Amino acid sequence: MTSGLKFLLEIERARNVRTYLDLLATQTEKPKMKFHPFDECLRAAITHMKNGADVYQQFNCATCGAKQTMDVPNKFFTEGICEKCGGHTDIKRDGCNYMLHMVLR
Ligand SMILES: [Zn+2]
Repeated sequence: MTSGLKFLLEIERARNVRTYLDLLATQTEKPKMKFHPFDECLRAAITHMKNGADVYQQFNCATCGAKQTMDVPNKFFTEGICEKCGGHTDIKRDGCNYMLHMVLR
């Protein structure tokens, strides 16, 4: 439960900048992506979508460890194929994260 709360706080902070990627780019040390249960991510993502954000699911390749971002917005996948090595990842089993893209008005 603690990690879930921390995750939501991170997202709240990210909403103050244009994209989560922008946030990462401004930090000198890139934080390691945290992973959360699939269902937990999906629930949170739906809330963000309702608030007008585009959500891009992210996961780490189970084979080579490369960070992967899905190119389809607002869609969550239970498995993924790595762009780097072609390896298969069971996202539902391994957990995931997501990137928010919001236009600030
Ligand atoms: Zn890979």
